[in-house]
Amino acid sequence: MMSNDQPVTYLNLDEIHHLAQVALESNGFSQAQANSIAISVTAAERDGCQSHGLFRVSFYINALRNSIADAKAEPALQVNDSTVIHVDGKNGFCPLALDIGLPALVSKAQMHGTAALAIHNVYNIAALWPEVELLAQQGLVAFAFTTSNAYVTPAGGIKPLFGTNPMAFGFPREAMPPLVFDQASSASARGEIQLHQRDGQPIPDGWAIDREGLPTNDPDAALAGAQLPFGGHKGASIALMVELLAGALIGENFSVDSSSQDTHRVGAPFGGELLLAIDPEKFGSTQYLQRAEFLFSQMLDMPGTRLPSQRRYEQREKSVTQGVAMPARLLTELAEMTNN
Ligand code: NDP
Repeated sequence: MMSNDQPVTYLNLDEIHHLAQVALESNGFSQAQANSIAISVTAAERDGCQSHGLFRVSFYINALRNSIADAKAEPALQVNDSTVIHVDGKNGFCPLALDIGLPALVSKAQMHGTAALAIHNVYNIAALWPEVELLAQQGLVAFAFTTSNAYVTPAGGIKPLFGTNPMAFGFPREAMPPLVFDQASSASARGEIQLHQRDGQPIPDGWAIDREGLPTNDPDAALAGAQLPFGGHKGASIALMVELLAGALIGENFSVDSSSQDTHRVGAPFGGELLLAIDPEKFGSTQYLQRAEFLFSQMLDMPGTRLPSQRRYEQREKSVTQGVAMPARLLTELAEMTNN
């Protein structure tokens, strides 16, 4: 049983991938779009990131039913002599656009030392750590940024303007999985509030305000009001930076644009993602991996600390051997979506 006493079924990773793939394909997604999304939600379940796991399949399907999303879109890669690569997602979903753009980003960064990948015209409902982890596994330092919908109020405001705007960072390690963090610039991811709403649980202090600007622990009032940035004005500035990088810089939607286009309140952000990759070998330090390990060891010598991504990697090992606990209600919802 899960903490809120829902019955659960343990599924292995192939079963999770299969459920997502079949649900998506039965709703009109192409095999390629469905496969990339299924890989993304399976990785999230595997790493204990339920808010971007099978729970999200309904968001993909709703985006298709209630928007201009093209679930058969074939993203187009544009590479030229510059160090900036573009992928036009053609109103499809981000995972397939990333699959097409990331190999080119790795090659460009290895060739020139730094490179950028701008993804355009995609619905992005996923976590960002998979792409920075993949880049860091190739020995690159990596950043990823994306806007979302207008959910977060600037420090001192009461109306939503910024997205929950995640940014992710990856740094390679020698013979170890990379160091990765991936965090929303809001106090919580919106999916976490939706999970609390689904489970009838109050949200923690500091996550949101209601429509009148008063602090709230009620997930319904929070979703109708505004989310708060993490760390007050400092998180708000990160959210602003993400709007500028993944919106203005690459010529894509701000979060408010995505919200105003979302007339059916699907909640699937539409816009772009910016990725930056740096080849540390080109910076001339021969010791960067050892120096990073020295810093990590000093950090971990302090009781109570851990590295970001450590929880995910530990959960990954458990999921591979023990499977993943799936709430019965989620599996029922998925079966209903698959049959309709
Ligand atoms: P969390 O606050 O849960 O975690 C943020 C990061 O902090 C993770 O890398 C986590 O590592 C790390 N971390 C957590 N606790 C500690 C600790 N004690 N010491 C060191 N590191 C720690 O994530 P958020 O709620 O901010 O975001 C959740 C997800 O939502 C992200 O993956 C983000 O990409 C996604 N998102 C996607 C959006 C979209 O529109 N596509 C919009 C907003 C968010 P670990 O994973 O190991 O716990």
